[in-house]
Amino acid sequence: EQGEPNKSGVYYYDRNFEKKRRENQDITGALLESIIKNEMYVVYQPKIDIVNNKISGVEALVRWKRNGTDYIEPNIFITIAEEIGFINKISEFVFKSVTKQIMEWKSKGIKVKCSVNVSVYDLLDEYYTYWVNGIFSDEDIDRSDFEIEITERVIAYNDKKLLDKMYYFKEKGFLISIDDFGTGYNSLMSIGEIPFDKLKIDKYFISRLNRIEVAELVKSIIQYAHTFGKIVVAEGVENEEQIKILKSFNCDEVQGYYFSKPLMPEEFEEFYSKFNKLS
Ligand code: C2E
Ligand code: MG
Ligand code: MG
Ligand code: MG
Repeated sequence: EQGEPNKSGVYYYDRNFEKKRRENQDITGALLESIIKNEMYVVYQPKIDIVNNKISGVEALVRWKRNGTDYIEPNIFITIAEEIGFINKISEFVFKSVTKQIMEWKSKGIKVKCSVNVSVYDLLDEYYTYWVNGIFSDEDIDRSDFEIEITERVIAYNDKKLLDKMYYFKEKGFLISIDDFGTGYNSLMSIGEIPFDKLKIDKYFISRLNRIEVAELVKSIIQYAHTFGKIVVAEGVENEEQIKILKSFNCDEVQGYYFSKPLMPEEFEEFYSKFNKLS
């Protein structure tokens, strides 16, 4: 982020640049201590199956309050964590929190599938694979309770190492979601060439559904994905109009503020019982 080019294409100095650089440096130091200082926690956003009107699962999203108060955006600290090699610590923390939470919910009679976001650094890390397998070898937890979300931006259909790993996790019984679909460089054709179960259309498209050309595109993605037997989820659904359009396109699931923001575990329990009473 070096400022915007002016009309002649020359970069001018961005006064914010130095400030941002210093902020990132501060974040890095604090990030390394975040887990031992108990500053991270996980929230859960419901996903709704709009065909059968039921909760189809939740997505686990990590949260960090620096010094217990300062909320830092995941997009900011995840990127830094990836750069400094701290992402695997965060991923372990999230995975552990989620397995604990699922067991607790099971004991309360709440059965939900949970998806976790994984970084490509995790997937390509042998230790991570080993570690995830370890967790599932002894716990009373099914792999099919879990979904792994991988952002489309890191996927290339010719990246053999990554695809092999995706096949590996699928064979192990995990469900795989392609996250933020439409923000990467893959063509629609890749839908038939990448191993996955669910496709999440990025909120960029959902927020522009009122534009006819975007609606047509979303409709095509859904239709094409369905011919391969994939489940389609729309991200960032915020209003009734979007639900109507998505239903008419036979979209399977939605996630977004319209139904619920990401919730603390107790809040989700409340949401769960209310939703099931209503439907
Ligand atoms: P994502 O996986 O695509 O997650 C969806 C993001 O959209 C979340 O942002 C969520 O809070 C937000 N969102 C949900 N519904 C709506 C809506 O209706 N409108 C709008 N405008 N936004 C909505 P969040 O929690 O800030 O996370 C941002 C990104 O950070 C995630 O995008 C994911 O890529 C990454 N991330 C979050 N948690 C983790 C994690 O535990 N591990 C890793 N590796 N990445 C994570
Ligand atoms: Mg996600
Ligand atoms: Mg997403
Ligand atoms: Mg996204």
